[in-house]
Amino acid sequence: MTIAIIAHDGKKADMVAFIKDHIEVLQQRNIALIATGTTGSHLERAGLTVECMQSGPYGGDAQIASRLVEKHVDMVVFFRDPLGKHPHEVDVNMLMRL
Ligand code: PGA
Repeated sequence: MTIAIIAHDGKKADMVAFIKDHIEVLQQRNIALIATGTTGSHLERAGLTVECMQSGPYGGDAQIASRLVEKHVDMVVFFRDPLGKHPHEVDVNMLMRL
């Protein structure tokens, strides 16, 4: 199973807390993790093995969307910040639609 994790900047602290709460589940061998660039670096710092895409504003959400369409991603955990401004909002909306 592959889980994609993405967190907007305003939600990265919540994401790190989530990771710490679920670290034992996320470290299971049958779970692969992918993440947008900066989110992925947080996951690595938490001790997880993760395949990092580009940072969100540079296409990371679109890369994850592509993997999702090709059925290489089973679950997306997205910590969205609805109050923040995101230059890549169209990519975020595309991923949510898919
Ligand atoms: P980031 O991207 O993990 O590189 O910050 C997340 C996003 O804003 O979509």
